[in-house]
Amino acid sequence: MKDYDAIIIGAGIAGSCVAYNLIRDGYKGKVLVIDRDVPAGEKSSTALSAGGFRNLWTTEPNMKLSTFSIKEYEKLQKEEKMNIGFDKAGYLFLKNKKQWKEAKKIAKTQKKNGVNLDILTLKEVSKLIPDLNLKKVDKEIKEFFGIEDLAGGIIGHDCGFIDGYLLSTSILGKAKQEGISLKVNAEVTEIIKKDNTIEGIKTKQGETILSPVIINAAGPYAAKIGAMIGVEIPVVPINRQLFVATSPYKGTKFPMIVLDNGAYMRSELEDLLFGRANKDEPVAKEVNGQFLMHSDKNYFMEHIYPYFLARLPALEKGMSLKSKWGGLYEVNTEDHNAIIGQHPDIKGFYMCCGFSGHGIMEGFAAGKCISDLIIKGDYVTLPEVKQLRYERFKEGQLIKELEVI
Ligand SMILES: Cc1cc2nc3c(=O)[nH]c(=O)nc-3n(C[C@H](O)[C@H](O)[C@H](O)COP(=O)(O)OP(=O)(O)OC[C@H]3O[C@@H](n4cnc5c(N)ncnc54)[C@H](O)[C@@H]3O)c2cc1C
Repeated sequence: MKDYDAIIIGAGIAGSCVAYNLIRDGYKGKVLVIDRDVPAGEKSSTALSAGGFRNLWTTEPNMKLSTFSIKEYEKLQKEEKMNIGFDKAGYLFLKNKKQWKEAKKIAKTQKKNGVNLDILTLKEVSKLIPDLNLKKVDKEIKEFFGIEDLAGGIIGHDCGFIDGYLLSTSILGKAKQEGISLKVNAEVTEIIKKDNTIEGIKTKQGETILSPVIINAAGPYAAKIGAMIGVEIPVVPINRQLFVATSPYKGTKFPMIVLDNGAYMRSELEDLLFGRANKDEPVAKEVNGQFLMHSDKNYFMEHIYPYFLARLPALEKGMSLKSKWGGLYEVNTEDHNAIIGQHPDIKGFYMCCGFSGHGIMEGFAAGKCISDLIIKGDYVTLPEVKQLRYERFKEGQLIKELEVI
């Protein structure tokens, strides 16, 4: 007895892409996507993200996942006419003198691997974005804030940004049109398992839904889903903050600019969007089953603004903060990379989670891999992604990525 052939827990980018790929790949089974938000995924990491995409990575699985996803997102906008805000505006990493040698070495390897990028001198960066002040930083400001002199930049031409929420809802909408079912306002609280085989789920709302396959796409809540059947998933929720401000640079469209200290900024329509990971942010607290999110103007003023002010002096007069929010990174504490695969000992329990802050740009390809695993039993389209299987933790085969922001 079963109600569905597969249940996907979570309607963020990961869950939506699993559903979409199953349908596109001709899966004949009945699929249910279940999410506790109304509308689906409204408070997800996907909805609260910065939407950046880049294929400037140092590990094979990340390069493959992002390159594949970017191509598909472009097709969704151009060919399927989805309104997802796909914009190949580029990603510009600015590097200081200490970082430059290593950055160039990595970029050369990426280029050899087919990544469309250029290594730029400061002069070339200035040509590309004339508004950037790359050298003349006041000595006192430099010393007070620890701002280093820049040495050059790496620009990724196939990179840019997208609207994460529009993307996931459009993909999910399409999958729904093609036959998958969606249940919202339904929180999974229990997974039914007999011996080592999945049988279904129970919800807080009192429903029991039977299915031999469950896909854990619960983002920052992935570890809680695993814990329901005693599976340890090394994913913790960590708050990240974003800020939107008016732009004094009217008419300038900025790519995603990542400073040498990891602070980043891009155009957001007419405005500017800023962010920076706080390396000291603790694991988010849980209250009534929800992880808390926060944002603080002081964080922007102390840890982001001064660094961009040094590079974009007009911010001092012509910028005002319009909005701010916090969201959750789903950090894989072992190696900061996604977990994509079936549990080795529990038949029917798949994981598509732990993206550690790069799930928008990898979501589509991750969904494709899960679809391949369910339909064909292997990582057929992207064999390199097998490196991200759950077993790697036990086997000590961690994937060390050097370009995590
Ligand atoms: C501030 C910020 C900036 C970011 N910037 C970028 C970026 O520039 N580029 C990029 O690629 N990524 C970025 N990310 C990361 C990206 O947002 C995530 O990696 C991605 O959204 C994860 O998607 P997901 O589908 O795995 O999880 P989510 O989007 O969180 O979706 C999980 C869903 O599962 C549901 N759920 C959880 N538990 C249950 C349950 N028990 N029952 C039912 N439903 C449940 C939730 O309601 C949620 O809707 C950023 C994240 C943040 C917070």
